[in-house]
Amino acid sequence: MTTNKTRPCPLCKKPASWDNNKWRPFCSERCKMIDLGFWAMGEYKVEGCEDEKNPQENEDKIFTDS
Ligand SMILES: [Zn+2]
Repeated sequence: MTTNKTRPCPLCKKPASWDNNKWRPFCSERCKMIDLGFWAMGEYKVEGCEDEKNPQENEDKIFTDS
């Protein structure tokens, strides 16, 4: 009887199944990749793309909102 064994994912804190989970202690491949630093590469891409579009407008939004 080990079907209900879960643990909170160290990254997103969601309960991650322990059995039949090859990403443990993480809940998913995504969380494991983030922890390993792979996620940073993808995020850098997106961030750079948005920055190139209009960085000033982004800053303006933040200031006017607060
Ligand atoms: Zn997770």
